[in-house]
Amino acid sequence: MPTLLDPVTVLRGIGPLQKARLEKLGVQTIQDLLTFLPRRFDDYSIATPINSLRLGEAAIARGTLSEIKLEHSFRGLPVVRAMLTDESGSIGLVWFNQAFLVPTLERLKEMTVMGKVARDRHKGKVLHVQQYELQPRIVPIYPETAGVTSKQLRYFLSQALPMAHQLTDPLPESIREKEGLIARERAWRILHAPADQAELAKAKHRIGFDELLRIALNVVSQKHILQKGKSVPIPHDVALVRDFVHGLPFSLTPDQKKATWHIMQDLEKPHPMNRLLNGDVGSGKTIVGAIAILQVQRAKLQTVWLAPTEILAEQHAKTLKKLISPFGVSVGLLSANHCEKNGDMCERDEVLGCDVVVGTHALLQEGVRFERLAFVIVDEQHRFGVEQRSQLKRGRADGNIPHLLSMTATPIPRSFALALYGDLELSTIAQMPTGRRPVETEIILDSKREQAYKKIRAEIKKGRQAFIICPLVEETNQKESLFDYDSVKAAKAEYKRLKTDVFPDLTVGLVHGKMSAKEKTFEMEQFRAGIASVLVATSVVEVGVDVGNVTMMVIEGADRFGLAQLHQLRGRVGRNVYQSQCLLIPHNPTGRGMQRLEIFSTITDGFELAEKDLALRGPGEMYGTAQSGLPDLKMASLTDMPLIAKARRVAEEIITDGIEKYPDLASLVETNLHAHLE
Ligand code: ADP
Ligand code: MG
Repeated sequence: MPTLLDPVTVLRGIGPLQKARLEKLGVQTIQDLLTFLPRRFDDYSIATPINSLRLGEAAIARGTLSEIKLEHSFRGLPVVRAMLTDESGSIGLVWFNQAFLVPTLERLKEMTVMGKVARDRHKGKVLHVQQYELQPRIVPIYPETAGVTSKQLRYFLSQALPMAHQLTDPLPESIREKEGLIARERAWRILHAPADQAELAKAKHRIGFDELLRIALNVVSQKHILQKGKSVPIPHDVALVRDFVHGLPFSLTPDQKKATWHIMQDLEKPHPMNRLLNGDVGSGKTIVGAIAILQVQRAKLQTVWLAPTEILAEQHAKTLKKLISPFGVSVGLLSANHCEKNGDMCERDEVLGCDVVVGTHALLQEGVRFERLAFVIVDEQHRFGVEQRSQLKRGRADGNIPHLLSMTATPIPRSFALALYGDLELSTIAQMPTGRRPVETEIILDSKREQAYKKIRAEIKKGRQAFIICPLVEETNQKESLFDYDSVKAAKAEYKRLKTDVFPDLTVGLVHGKMSAKEKTFEMEQFRAGIASVLVATSVVEVGVDVGNVTMMVIEGADRFGLAQLHQLRGRVGRNVYQSQCLLIPHNPTGRGMQRLEIFSTITDGFELAEKDLALRGPGEMYGTAQSGLPDLKMASLTDMPLIAKARRVAEEIITDGIEKYPDLASLVETNLHAHLE
């Protein structure tokens, strides 16, 4: 018998072509095949009574076959017809272009069909059959992007399933029993050939648990490493904070105060802080970070602030200079472009000595050393673990680990964050500063886009500015795997059109990710200074920019964006006392993305949107996760709180017991524990 590590070519029906296609799906070995996740399950066991089938609906019906015949359509195409009868009634079945089915159908008595109910000119209501099954069973449907059909995969799997017992289970039986989890091997066998929904639910529960356990093990093991690690305690200076806050043109919100207090207490400990600052877009997370930096500088220590893009790094450096350099904090910027100290160009070595150094991941590269580093802020970035910290630690001779504060780009639902990250490590800013006006959000159809331009003109007349967001840099004829972006507005082409045809009398700027850092900085400066009235931009790079005078945002192809990303984009306006507007122009006004836009146009609260996003996004639907900071899950649902809590509990148990006792689980933890404990 073949083993799990044998190539799939040992199975019947897999030649070089299929092998190559399977490889594209990430399937090379029998084990890969056995753990290849179905995308969905079609349940042929729940049939609708034939007399209640409704026009236009997709339906499953089961009954006896009769009157099988082959006809020809008006264009000469073969059409197979039959009658399907159950206790409630009969309906005509139609197969187009599948004459070869006739002998098969003639041999059958009963069958289950799935298809769409349509009206036939002569015969009344009929069912256009898409799939049929002999037995009323649940059928797994696999991702078919690489050109391997589900039917083929099921055939390959029918040969591989007898080897499933070789799949090992990283979870000991004692834990499985206590937590009500079936064996991994059994879960996979069920997923590929479920007998009923109850069994399928158990299998999904187990595989979903495994996905969450991997995340929880990483979160918990990081926590444990850090608890054992050493950091320099940073005493807090209440008088200094009071001074700083008094100098602000506004007072802190209660949640900002609470978060600041949490952070100051954490910094005082001799163990590394690991705190997540979870707040809405525009809720004022930067100030909280700035106050912490003041404490660090007072202790004669250094902060590194990591930003996701160059533009954001430059912006943060500016903001910090304004906020805290009057308190004697030197602010450095290390960008791909140039180095700055307190806004003036300087040598790289000089930047590395500043009290706070802002930059992108370039700060993590080999050869960058910070002698006095004690504190790291990671802005709107979620992949920053112990590994990265130890990279930064290099600069310190004493082996102390820097304290870490991460800030979310868009809010993470509190229930979820709490279940996974635990209460101690989380600060939430739920309220927005007072005086903010919710951004008016409206869907405008492509045919009415003139309205959007009129509104832009009206705002510019009042001295305000506008963003126009496009999904792509350049037009492309290639179809992307997920969406066809063919005719989605591309920034460059749209910029040309707007500049020459729509706003020939205005200054229009353009910024996108493929520009050099220098060009980007220049364009942003022009816009910030008010020289350009309209800025055409792509979505990814510009997330997070803060230009207070902008009151108008148009989002092209808005239905292509996830809720989290839309929210992040909308957060770029409404940052001042003026009323702001966000206009959404959908690419496909009849598509599924419209549901998101409807929700988005009525909800402005980021936490509420995040909850909706979770509810909308079934497991396996992963658009927008990169922006939202939520982990990638295929089977588990992020709204399944009991399962998340279970994963967290089991992870705590395993890590406390010592993960080295669970060799198969240890490999799931990305960090090498021992290397970091030294
Ligand atoms: P984010 O949380 O998205 O990073 P920022 O820190 O950029 O938000 O803050 C957004 C804007 O709100 C900034 O211009 C900031 O000066 C302002 N701000 C922050 N806190 C307050 C407050 N308590 N009251 C009024 N405005 C505030
Ligand atoms: Mg921010």
